[in-house]
Amino acid sequence: MKRTSFIDGARIAAGGLKDFASGLSTPTLRLGVTGLARAGKTVFITALVHALLNQTRLPLFDAQAQGRITRAYLEPQPDDDLPRFAYEDHVARLTAKERTWPESTRRISQLRLTLDYTPQGLIARSFGRDRLHVDIVDYPGEWLLDLPLLNLSYAQWSAETVASSRRKPRDALARDWHGLLSSLDPLGSANEHDAVKAAELFTAYLARCRGGDVSLSALPPGRFLMPGDLAGSPLLTFAALDVAPDADFPRGSLGALMARRYDSYVAKIVRPFFFGHFARLDRQIVLVDALSALNAGPDAVRDLQKALTDVLASFRQGANSWASTFFGHRIDRILFAAAKADLIHHSSHDRLEAILELIVKDAAARAEFSGAEIDIAALAAIRATREATIRQKGEDLACIAGIPEKGETIGGETFNGETEAAIFPGDLPANPEEALRGGLEGALHFVKFRPPLTAGRSFPHIRLDRALEFLLGDRFS
Ligand code: GDP
Repeated sequence: MKRTSFIDGARIAAGGLKDFASGLSTPTLRLGVTGLARAGKTVFITALVHALLNQTRLPLFDAQAQGRITRAYLEPQPDDDLPRFAYEDHVARLTAKERTWPESTRRISQLRLTLDYTPQGLIARSFGRDRLHVDIVDYPGEWLLDLPLLNLSYAQWSAETVASSRRKPRDALARDWHGLLSSLDPLGSANEHDAVKAAELFTAYLARCRGGDVSLSALPPGRFLMPGDLAGSPLLTFAALDVAPDADFPRGSLGALMARRYDSYVAKIVRPFFFGHFARLDRQIVLVDALSALNAGPDAVRDLQKALTDVLASFRQGANSWASTFFGHRIDRILFAAAKADLIHHSSHDRLEAILELIVKDAAARAEFSGAEIDIAALAAIRATREATIRQKGEDLACIAGIPEKGETIGGETFNGETEAAIFPGDLPANPEEALRGGLEGALHFVKFRPPLTAGRSFPHIRLDRALEFLLGDRFS
């Protein structure tokens, strides 16, 4: 059932007009930064803004490398209804004596970075300086994975959700919820206690699927895992029931109650996010914790692929929306980035990129995605490790070295948070197909490292400049 209505069109028109009016004075680029919990969004935005504000050397980001960005500064953000991204707090934590990682993204936030630059061409240069606003919008990837719900009725979503929970590896994690589900009669009379209990067990099931050893990605509704300001809200008191996709529910039934709440969730949460924020983005980076998925095994990789297919389907939907037809507004570049590449040796960076490329290519084909330019990168927004070689049994092992956080363990050793350690993280296979077939489960060894000491005024990074060139570079010509 297609739910997009005329009212939605009018709503985007209003948002689009606001963008259009503000775009007349100074060009603005709205950059979305997303990824599932702990993918590295906060660290990425903090590092990006820090590198531009401090004119860090970024050889692959041409405008900066050529010295054409003359000034970078933060300005009040355009959308008063969004919280500001807490840039200063994040930098303060990273650079404090204890050096800790910033607090992760839990809701949407925004930051406006303004860049004064000298245009590239001779003629353009003679007109003097130019200015670009980069409005960075940070939002949980869990919310993005909700967008397919715009096109699903409650019964359709329920049927799909219950069916996937019966497949491996989800089935083992859904036992409690399944137990309750079999005792609920969707056509029987509604009972608030049942609704609350079902929502509780369903949410616990989703949280288990996200757990480190299974590391699944596609788990809507996103607000159940990442509620933002809605924690404890009645809008989240529903769950899937065991029904056919075309089921109808009589008035007063449990099914009708759940369907009403699902509809409210879609109307009051998913739809405003889509039209108010998502549909207005120009560029998007999707941070992916591909290493954890590979380490968890082929089920997690398949699930990641499903999540990325849904993400690309959402972008396609964004591209075809009424706003894009009317204002020519659509996302034209998407970067999929495997974050935390500093956790593996550089000899594996290209391999990690090749693996992610294969996953994304497949997802794009499934989502029948075409339109925006897509790039893939393995990066570390803030590099916490350096490379080292250790000799073991007469063999040189390519390692990474850094200070593991206090309490981290590997091979029976527990770290104190002060001493540097060299760790062999494992190798990625040269053939990306092989990685997707599995066999890497548990073969990679990760620990959480403390943030690095800043060298002078900049954070070390891996390929952050390449990411910036793809996301922003063409806007400084
Ligand atoms: P968010 O939930 O997407 O905002 O994730 P964060 O940006 O807060 O990152 C989650 C955690 O991942 C951080 O606390 C760090 O431990 C780790 N992390 C993120 N980026 C990097 C990186 O570039 N290198 C390393 N070594 N760790 C990172």
